[in-house]
Amino acid sequence: MNVVDIITKKKNREELTREELEYMVKGFNDGSIPDYQMSAFLMAVVLQGMSRENTVALTEIMRDSGDVMDLSGINGIKVDKHSTGGVGDKTTLIVAPIAAAAGVPIAKMSGRGLGFTGGTVDKMESIPGFRTSMEKEEFIRAVNERGIAVIGQTGNLAPADKKIYALRDVTGTTESLALITSSIMSKKLAAGSDAIVLDVKCGSGAFMKTLPDAEELAHSMVDIGKAAGKNTIAIISDMNQPLGNAVGNALEVQEAMDVLKGKGPEDIRELSLNLAGAMVVAGGIIDGKAFGSEDSVIKGVKLAEEMLDSGKALEKFREFVEGQGGNPEIINDYSLMAQPAYSLEVRAEESGYVSKVDALKIGLASQHTGAGRERKEDSIDMSAGIVLNKKIGDELEKGDLLFTAYANDKDKLARGAEEAKAAYEFGKTKEARPSLIKKVIE
Ligand code: URA
Repeated sequence: MNVVDIITKKKNREELTREELEYMVKGFNDGSIPDYQMSAFLMAVVLQGMSRENTVALTEIMRDSGDVMDLSGINGIKVDKHSTGGVGDKTTLIVAPIAAAAGVPIAKMSGRGLGFTGGTVDKMESIPGFRTSMEKEEFIRAVNERGIAVIGQTGNLAPADKKIYALRDVTGTTESLALITSSIMSKKLAAGSDAIVLDVKCGSGAFMKTLPDAEELAHSMVDIGKAAGKNTIAIISDMNQPLGNAVGNALEVQEAMDVLKGKGPEDIRELSLNLAGAMVVAGGIIDGKAFGSEDSVIKGVKLAEEMLDSGKALEKFREFVEGQGGNPEIINDYSLMAQPAYSLEVRAEESGYVSKVDALKIGLASQHTGAGRERKEDSIDMSAGIVLNKKIGDELEKGDLLFTAYANDKDKLARGAEEAKAAYEFGKTKEARPSLIKKVIE
C-alpha cells in the first residue's frame, strides 16, 4: 500500500477500504507515517468528508489501537456520559450522583482539560484529599460498593486518537464531522460502558456553531454507538453563553454542590436533569420499558428530579467524595476548598439589557485568570475563574454587578477581567434567552 495513493484517493473523494484506513492509522501511530503525510490526509478528510461506513471503520480502528476496558465485573448496565465540550460545563458532577442514586452504575473515566478550564478530573481535584487515580480492581470494587467512581483515564485507551488529535490541533483539521465522531466515539467505546449519553453542544462556544451541524454530529455519533451494540442517546444543548454562572475549577464544584442542594442556576439544573434522565433510561432503570420510547424519557427525567429534590443525589455525592478520599465537609463549608487571593467585581456602565455573553471569550478569560492550561504540562489554579452575575436577557441598572473575576495573581486577574468584560454586549431591548435543550436524538 502507498500513502500518497491513499491521500490522493481521499483528495478525489473516493471511498477508502478498511485496510487503507488501517494502514494510515497504524502507520501514523507506530511512527512509520510522518506528520506531514498524515496532515495532508487529515486535511483531505476535512475538505472531502467521509462516508458513514468509513467513519465506523476509522472509529473501530482507533478504538482497537490500545486497551479496551473490560467492566464486566461491575453489576448492571453501566452508562457513560460525554460532553463535546463547553464553558462552565460541570454537569458530570451533578448528573453522575443523580444517576447513581437512581441505580445506574457509574464507572466513569474523565479527562483533564486543555484550554478554558480543567476537565472533570481537574475539577474533582479541587476537593481536598480527593483521589482520581485507582487501579482497575479498586475501581470496579468502588462502583460495585458505592454505585459510582470517577477517575482519570487509566490504561492506554485509543492511543492513535491521542496522536491524531494532537496533530489536528496544530494543522487546522479539528473541524470535521468524521474526525470528531471517530475521535470521541473511539474513546467512549474503549472505556467499556454498556450505554452512552452524549451532550452535544451547539453555539458560539462549541465545535458545532449551528443546529444542523450539531444534529449531524449527534446522528453520526448515535449511529456509531448503536452499530457497536450500545444504547446511545444524544441531547443537543445550547452553548452560546456559558452554562450556569461559574467558570473555573473549585468555583464549578461549588456551583454543582449548589444544584445538588436544590439551589444554583436554573439552566444547569435543567440540563443535568435531562442528561440524568437519559442515563436512567439508557441504563434500563425505568420499569422495563424499551429504550427509546418517548414516554420512558419523560419518566427518566421525573425519576432524576426525585433523586435531586429528595436529597438522595446529594447523599450519593457525599458518599462518592468520601469514598475517593475527599473531605465531605466541603459540602457544608466551601471555604475548605482553595481560596483565591484576589477578586475583582466588574459592574455595568449603563442601564439596558444583556444581549450577548460570548462563551468562548468567557472561557479564554477564565483560562487567563489561571483556571485553564495553555500547554499540557501547565499547572492550573484551582481557585481562579469567573462567576457571572448577569446573562443574556437580564435587565441592568447602571452599577449592577456583571461578574466577579478571581485569581492569585494581580496581572492575571486584570487580564481575565478585561477579557470577560469584552465578552458582554448590551442592548436597549430585552433579548430572548436561548433555549437550552435543542433536541434529543436516539
Ligand atoms: N473531543 C474529542 O475528544 N475529539 C474531538 O475531535 C473533538 C472533541
